[in-house]
Amino acid sequence: MLERPLLAGRGKRTWVPQTTRDPRTPHRGHSASPGVRSRVWDEDACPTRQGRQLRSRVGKAAWPVWGLFRKFLVLAVGFAFCLPAGAWGPEGHRIIGELAAKLLTPAARSRVAVILEPGNTLASVSNWADDVRQERPETAPWHYIDIPIRKPSLNMARDCPKRDCVIAKIEDFQQILQDSSGTTQSQREALMFLTHFIEDLHQPLHCSDNKDRGGNDVAVEFLGVPTNLHSLWDSGLVARMGPEDQLLQSLSRELTRSAVARLSGGSVRDWAEESHRIAQSIVYGRLPSARSASKESAIRLGEAYERAADPVIRLQLERAAARLAKTLNTLLPK
Ligand SMILES: [Zn+2]
Repeated sequence: MLERPLLAGRGKRTWVPQTTRDPRTPHRGHSASPGVRSRVWDEDACPTRQGRQLRSRVGKAAWPVWGLFRKFLVLAVGFAFCLPAGAWGPEGHRIIGELAAKLLTPAARSRVAVILEPGNTLASVSNWADDVRQERPETAPWHYIDIPIRKPSLNMARDCPKRDCVIAKIEDFQQILQDSSGTTQSQREALMFLTHFIEDLHQPLHCSDNKDRGGNDVAVEFLGVPTNLHSLWDSGLVARMGPEDQLLQSLSRELTRSAVARLSGGSVRDWAEESHRIAQSIVYGRLPSARSASKESAIRLGEAYERAADPVIRLQLERAAARLAKTLNTLLPK
């Protein structure tokens, strides 16, 4: 992810579509402040505590009163989008990390604790790869792979020719993590990158592209709030799924032993193709018209789109957690 304010600047209430993928790669080159990671709208820096409270209050039940409280709700939803956007926003990453940690074997859990610095957990390091992206620009392409939206499947030679994409990096960091002769520092970084990239891979717009920088160039207006398609899938829709702790609990309940076994199969490349198919069928496929490539006017999205997206987002969060846990349980057996 790249934290990008949904608002143009502190105190300014003008919504602008945000770039949430790499601002440095040439074809991903626009943003309100390219190359500068904004901390202004970090979750903890959301303008006021009240704003953060509004975020949890403005649940779906509040929307029928839209006519009466339009201005209030626009502001409140604005606060909801204060979450920095990314391949999943920090909330999505944390949730996957929390869920995966519960699914680790005792052996993998203790190895993870040893490799990470004291006090850290899978959830707390889940966003590290995004945090270092500005200081380590070479890592920016590692967060996604551009499988063309009209292609049925992945082609590594076409989509990842320099092995500089999320799939290749997951494979590389699996090797490093598995190599017990590596330094603690290299193992720690490998674990933090691997965790984040498996999470990223499950955001469909990190595995698909419609010549729109993974949806960053697709202006949308979701329930009246201007944003862009990528940002909406990173964090806008997740933010509307209820308070983080409640969402975490309900996903955790669904991740039964049999569900984990069912969800965790397949290879990294299978997972990427699955994400790509979701981008085809839901992310772009449920847009109200064939205007997904439009760069001129915002596509209006509402509750019908949200109803199609929400079950998929829940499933992708669960899949990511089950697969991250299975990967670590396999790589860190003792
Ligand atoms: Zn990322």
